[in-house]
Amino acid sequence: MQLPIVTHPDYSFPFPSGHRFPMAKFGLLAAHLRDIGLLTADNLFRPGRCREQWLTAAHCPDYLARFQANQQSPKEQKQMNLPWSEGLRKRTLLAPAGTVLTAQLALHYGIACHQAGGTHHAHYDHASGFCILNDLAITARVLLRQTGIQRVLIFDCDVHQGDGTAVMLADEPRAFTCSLHCENNFPFSKARSDLDVPLPQGMEDQAYVAQVMATLDLLLDQVAPDIVLYDAGVDVYAGDPLGRLSISEAGIRERDTRVLQRLLERGIPVATVIGGGYDDDREALARRHSIVTQVAQELVQHR
Ligand SMILES: [Zn+2]
Repeated sequence: MQLPIVTHPDYSFPFPSGHRFPMAKFGLLAAHLRDIGLLTADNLFRPGRCREQWLTAAHCPDYLARFQANQQSPKEQKQMNLPWSEGLRKRTLLAPAGTVLTAQLALHYGIACHQAGGTHHAHYDHASGFCILNDLAITARVLLRQTGIQRVLIFDCDVHQGDGTAVMLADEPRAFTCSLHCENNFPFSKARSDLDVPLPQGMEDQAYVAQVMATLDLLLDQVAPDIVLYDAGVDVYAGDPLGRLSISEAGIRERDTRVLQRLLERGIPVATVIGGGYDDDREALARRHSIVTQVAQELVQHR
């Protein structure tokens, strides 16, 4: 089986190169996946623009309207911390649809990988931490309207807490939010996920992967999800400027392999999103973000 991969050429667009947010990484990531033969015309899926109904089921309609019309207040612009442009508007409305599409492909094929997504700091009516719309909350709500989906697990391994997702889905008992994050990192005022696993600063590979797997195994028994949205953030990497954990690339590969292997052997559909990663070496960052997709392809190719 060839792994379904979701991406869109408009995910990256002309953006100030000195900005902390590496907007170029999505295009570089897709290019890298093509270079190593993982992304071809046969397994590429492109999302369309997010349906209005999907957006308003999760976000404040007035906030959505103000963002789209570039009529945000100075406070809102500061919260967004990204310069507004047509390109930003377009990609912001595409990416959540990409996560929805990835989840639908996962339900059909067992696994699928989005080359964006994991904007877990976005809240109901405001942006935060470079996240404008919360693709995980949007997708969970879309999924829960479908026949046969009773429980969605959001398994968030980005180094930062998935605070927006936790708050946006707090009133939805069928969506279980779990965040494994560095305790001493943004957001400094933490929200309450259904399960939070704070990790000590400087944590290394072995202890980290053991904690990830112990948490996942516990949840698979307790939550029994019909689908998992897996945020494979690579800002856990030791060299990430916004990270504060000490995980190697081998450790990230080990984490992703064991998580995906466990879900596949249990027959639970999994949709991956790339989450955070902020390395100033954009090429190295794109390669690091490709690990989860490489691992997924390795696991499915012999099925
Ligand atoms: Zn992060």
